[in-house]
Amino acid sequence: MKRIYLQKAKNQIARPTTIRDINKQIVLNYVRDRAPISRAEIARETALQRSTVSAIVDALQELGLIEEIGMGDSTGGRKPTLLKLKTGSPCAIGIDLTPRETTIAVADLEGKVIELEKFTTSQDIEYMNRQIIERVSRIAEKYKNEQLEIGMSLPGIVDQSRGKVLYIPYFGWRDWDIARQLTEKTGLSVTMENDANAIALAELWFGQEQIRKIKNFITVLVSEGIGTGVVFDGQVYHGEKGAAGEFGHMIVGENAPVQCSCGSRDCWEALSSEKATVARYKKSFPHNGSKSHDINFNYLIGLANNGEPQAIGSLKETAKYLGIGISNLIVGLSPQAIVVSGSITNVWGLIADEVSLVVERSVRSRLPKTIITASTLGDSPTLIGALSLVLARIFASAS
Ligand SMILES: [Zn+2]
Repeated sequence: MKRIYLQKAKNQIARPTTIRDINKQIVLNYVRDRAPISRAEIARETALQRSTVSAIVDALQELGLIEEIGMGDSTGGRKPTLLKLKTGSPCAIGIDLTPRETTIAVADLEGKVIELEKFTTSQDIEYMNRQIIERVSRIAEKYKNEQLEIGMSLPGIVDQSRGKVLYIPYFGWRDWDIARQLTEKTGLSVTMENDANAIALAELWFGQEQIRKIKNFITVLVSEGIGTGVVFDGQVYHGEKGAAGEFGHMIVGENAPVQCSCGSRDCWEALSSEKATVARYKKSFPHNGSKSHDINFNYLIGLANNGEPQAIGSLKETAKYLGIGISNLIVGLSPQAIVVSGSITNVWGLIADEVSLVVERSVRSRLPKTIITASTLGDSPTLIGALSLVLARIFASAS
């Protein structure tokens, strides 16, 4: 049951076009999920008239969203023509800005990357501004005959409705209007989003099947910090000014091995991030600074996967605090699942039990067990997040 807020009601009144758009969206999603599928099968599954389905399919073909792929098996009469999403044509530019590197990629409707370039992220905002505009303009020019949109993922607080980066703590950047500049230069529309929220959207549309099927889950990105994205009733929850999900700063312990980006040593981020794990590992060699001084998190993961006890020990300690934070999220919000992403998923087999053990200690014995799983989005979940900002909009509205 949703309350009707009158100031918004004038946009919500159901018009005939609204119904047609909803049906179009349903047919597009059938093709996406069940391809190869025939018009007759869609009509049977949706209980829409055959003629309605055919008209919608024509419209979707015209929009360049679906295509025919030959004949299926006949169930008596004429062999049906099968449909699938149109792939191979560029439709999304994803810009993924992380503290270390920035990736710009072009992808098709299925999220398959067609081309990709990377450069080292600089803390000089003027330089970053120039790089992004120049590179994206080049791509936009190259594909000027295609219908492209831009999605951008950033490690900070983003006001999506105004297309403005409000604050990126890692670099101290404030009020960056990169979306407006990109649109001015290329004519393309830009959707921007906080990295953890972008990942949540990516899981919702491109994640593993058990996550795509549910409506309430939380993503936990373990990277330089800890970011969380909350999916509530099938939508990413933003909160006022897009600032929801800052669980990285909840207190889960004390005397963390590193300082949180906010300065505290009690935050989840200071106890479970990549830098916390690396600092823990270094501390296990108090008399041999040279052995561990230039270790980074991915190197540490390699050591752990090769059975190095100190690396495994540091990761298990991180997993304990990761479990405490996850347990708090479960107790407070009762999600159906928690999806962990970031490089830490490459050692999930080593730490999953540690995380579960902590979570099981909390009081939820009569409630269904929350699924805790590693993301299947791979090593660049934020890039898929950036692309999802465009792709999910196409599948969610189809008009
Ligand atoms: Zn903090």
